[in-house]
Amino acid sequence: MSQAEFRTRARRLQEARRLVIKVGSALLVDSRTGRLNRSWLETLADDITAAAKRGQQVIVVSSGAIALGRRHLGLATGKLRLDESQAAAAVGQIRLARAWQEILEDRGLAVAQVLLTLDDTEDRRRYLNARATLNTLLGLGAVPVINENDTVATTEIRYGDNDRLAARVAQMASAECLVLLSDIDGLYTADPGKDPNAAFIPEVREIDARIDAMATGPTSGVGSGGMTTKVAAARIAVGAGCSLCIASGHRNHPLAAIEDGERCSWFLPTASPVATRKQWIAGTLKPSGILNVDTGAAGALRNGKSLLPAGVVSVTGQFGRGDTVSVMYQGAEIARGLVAYQSSEAQMIAGRRSSEIETLLGYVGREEIIHRDDLVVTAQRSPE
Ligand code: GLU
Repeated sequence: MSQAEFRTRARRLQEARRLVIKVGSALLVDSRTGRLNRSWLETLADDITAAAKRGQQVIVVSSGAIALGRRHLGLATGKLRLDESQAAAAVGQIRLARAWQEILEDRGLAVAQVLLTLDDTEDRRRYLNARATLNTLLGLGAVPVINENDTVATTEIRYGDNDRLAARVAQMASAECLVLLSDIDGLYTADPGKDPNAAFIPEVREIDARIDAMATGPTSGVGSGGMTTKVAAARIAVGAGCSLCIASGHRNHPLAAIEDGERCSWFLPTASPVATRKQWIAGTLKPSGILNVDTGAAGALRNGKSLLPAGVVSVTGQFGRGDTVSVMYQGAEIARGLVAYQSSEAQMIAGRRSSEIETLLGYVGREEIIHRDDLVVTAQRSPE
């Protein structure tokens, strides 16, 4: 594949409304000295700033806490026990966050640290909460810099690798593109260091057994462990409608290089993030409750608007925040969506103006009872 063809593919990176960049430890931290590769990070920050300046919302998933922290605890060499790596992460994370803050703020970007655990993306309520916070940060122009909360995560409930964490974050943020910057420039049919016939794979449209074998086989791609989690991440990302690119970070201005047509491996989805999400909502087997709506709301939903409490006539069923509910008009389901309030609260705000929510519930809640991004119209029945 030619440079021009790679450049064409890289438009996915430039045109993504939301972009997630994952940076591996090996790039951020010098393996010999255990210190931050600051000058390299500055070139990446230039690229991130360029993306932000052209209107893209950028999320960074940054590894490096353990690698950066261990030297300060006298744990420079050897394999770490879990408790030691958790201690190293505590020391390293504060340094990592500071570096990102200094470097991005120098370029005029506000930086936000977000530490997630597996629960935050697997438990629906926590997932929705983390998602809402990310949306708010991005809407306010900040760059979230995310890592796993290694210090509190236990073996059973941790990602352990930031490739999959980044894919979950991309899914949570409905990002259109995820770039995994690492020490490998992409996926190969076999380990190119050992097999002279190993071929570079520029594009994957379906992650099938053949692709899995490349990532897990005995003579698999460079740094086989690394490739396994990258393909697992690709499966999550593509399933969420997000394109994923595995690219080398071993050069300055790594994002600009991809945009300029440097070779990398692209994993391509078949549907957009919003379409994928809506399919999932529409496919919920058993909604937990019902919101009956009035004629005005039924019309608004049909026109792609959010559902406001004012349009809800009655609420039935017991549900929690984030559960899927059925929206009914004159006894027939017209839409499904993820509800922003639990059933007892929904009952209290039904039929009321959004401006009354604070007085009714005692806190400033969301304006919509179902946001349009969380809503799928299931029947195009027009209100009489
Ligand atoms: N969360 C780990 C760290 O910051 C990195 C995990 C990974 O290398 O994927 O050190």
